[in-house]
Amino acid sequence: MNSTNSDLTAESIRQRMTKLEHGALMPVFEKLSAIESVTTARVLDGFIQHQVGEPHFYSVSGYGHDDLGREVTDQAFAYALQSESALVRPHFVSGTHAIATALRGLCSMNNTLVSVTGKPYDTLEEVIGLRGKSSQSLKHSLNVAFKMTSVFDEQHPEFGCDVNRLDVAAIQSADVLYIQRSRGYALRSALCIQDIKAIITHCKQINPSAVVFVDNCYGEFTEATEPTSVGADVMAGSLIKNPGAGIVPTGGYIAGKTRWLERCADALTAPGIGADGGYTFQLTPTILQGLFMAPHAVHQSLRGMALASALFDSLGYTTTPVVDATRSDIIQVLLMKTPDEQIRFCQTLQANSPIDSNVTPVPADIAGYADQVIMAGGTFVQGSTQELSADGPLREPYPVFLQGGLSYVHTKLVLERVLLAMHQEKPCLV
Ligand SMILES: *Cc1c(COP(=O)(O)O)cnc(C)c1O
Repeated sequence: MNSTNSDLTAESIRQRMTKLEHGALMPVFEKLSAIESVTTARVLDGFIQHQVGEPHFYSVSGYGHDDLGREVTDQAFAYALQSESALVRPHFVSGTHAIATALRGLCSMNNTLVSVTGKPYDTLEEVIGLRGKSSQSLKHSLNVAFKMTSVFDEQHPEFGCDVNRLDVAAIQSADVLYIQRSRGYALRSALCIQDIKAIITHCKQINPSAVVFVDNCYGEFTEATEPTSVGADVMAGSLIKNPGAGIVPTGGYIAGKTRWLERCADALTAPGIGADGGYTFQLTPTILQGLFMAPHAVHQSLRGMALASALFDSLGYTTTPVVDATRSDIIQVLLMKTPDEQIRFCQTLQANSPIDSNVTPVPADIAGYADQVIMAGGTFVQGSTQELSADGPLREPYPVFLQGGLSYVHTKLVLERVLLAMHQEKPCLV
């Protein structure tokens, strides 16, 4: 922390935050409230339209045939996510599993899969067959060819999305187009719905028969509309992120056009079973409540991330997105000045989490990463990133990827304590 900030006290940090809340953050919060109103109304209307009721709360054991709760959950999600159909299941072990299942449903033998957002999220590399040797990867099981092009300039991610950067020949060759909405662990910004619409319109002009898939992880309910309302055929995500509101303990979803969803359901269960079987482990009321709460939980996260951006910016740090940017995921990147600051940030967040506050995260080697990574998050649902969490690789530009937060007030408190800890000379250990 530089010397100009050496007068930071709890009181001065609070005053600074209050000033931001009444200044730069005011129009941002107004925009976020307007989004929450639209998304909450749409979620509620889905429940009303499909007459969700107490009889839907019971899971049918065994084969799970005629599980009315499972069926109505799919319908309510489809409505909320502006899709024809949805497949919402606790059987998806993660977002990666939901995406892998969707891709298996969409891809046929010898197809070409083309990413238009560059390198996909790390865990998808083995699914596609870019890394690892699994005979079940798309490459090794279906002989799917994978190509990459990008709407982003890799050297200058801050330049944003431009469809004219896309390789036309690659788009022409695509059977399936792959778009990643969230920044994931990259420094580029999330693709907003307007960008996704522009990409899909551009690509469908070049290749009208390509099926468009969107990795929607971290994106749900951050904007008033979803990718399937602007031309995406299928999308997928995780229930321990946005659409689970921090209360759903496991699962994922795939949503989109019915004809594709049928194939995805066969890929999840078995041909002949599709979406018509599967015990739901008494989770239906929790999954429905998670959906109902999701627009609010996402809203709380977005407010907290905007505050983090404004606060660190006011102290001379580079932040992305900047405070008034359109947000399309619940991630905020704050560039620290030293690895020590990254470590203090993460340790203080962990020490001020409701769960495992006594645990001290330390940088560690993680498979697939060249540099050490530090991860913090004391969450009720293990690994949930809809709950407040932070992580980052210890290399320049020393990013902290901050995400989630079920309570704006909690995030605010954590930021105050993080700044105090960063300001102290002695190592920040609990
Ligand atoms: C979280 C995430 C995934 C899936 O990750 P899981 O940890 O398997 O749920 C995929 N893509 C992006 C962009 C993500 O943020």
